[in-house]
Amino acid sequence: MLKNLASLLFGGTCFLCRGAARDVLCAACDADLPRLAPQLCPRCALPSPGGTVCGRCLARAPRYDGTVAALAYAFPADTLVHALKFRGELALAPLLARLLLERLPPLRAVDCVVPVPLSSTRLRSRGYNHAAEIARPIAAALRAPLELSLCERRRDTAPQLELPWSERERNVRGAFASSASVAGASVAVVDDVMTTGATLDEIAAALKEAGAARVVNWVVARTLPPG
Ligand SMILES: [Zn+2]
Ligand SMILES: [Zn+2]
Repeated sequence: MLKNLASLLFGGTCFLCRGAARDVLCAACDADLPRLAPQLCPRCALPSPGGTVCGRCLARAPRYDGTVAALAYAFPADTLVHALKFRGELALAPLLARLLLERLPPLRAVDCVVPVPLSSTRLRSRGYNHAAEIARPIAAALRAPLELSLCERRRDTAPQLELPWSERERNVRGAFASSASVAGASVAVVDDVMTTGATLDEIAAALKEAGAARVVNWVVARTLPPG
């Protein structure tokens, strides 16, 4: 069904190379995606020898309990994310959701799936929340409730993309709240890209304040630190 929809929307051509494709991407472009190596820190999904908790997380534990990321935020993952986020290519969402689903561990039961919220101004101007579009097929596949309004933005923040890394933490501090109690719940927070993790850390703090027992991040792409 989704495949048919995709070929209808993309006319049977690969979104990246315009060659013949039965899905959004042809098999060659799909195989070339910058999938992350398996040895990642289970907490923040940055490369870590042996797949152990990395030094950064040991020195200063994030408030989320774990992170799963499918791709490195490099070409052409950035092209796909941008097209979904800024150009309204909504048919890319099921593809990004599938890449993330492929990466989730076998034990991945959660009580609910929560997309990172957009500010209401941005939601109005864009018309959709790309993170919610990615979260929807994931929640459906796992038969978990999709909670679109559980995590709220208390205030508008400058887009993290426009800020230097050093200012991102301060920009989002206290920016989120949970609209309901999630006492004892295991919550998965879905986003397109994780860069410094500052936004996801604040969201995890808000959900834990509302009683969540466990908060894990499921992100399509992970920005690797410079250098
Ligand atoms: Zn292709
Ligand atoms: Zn880490």
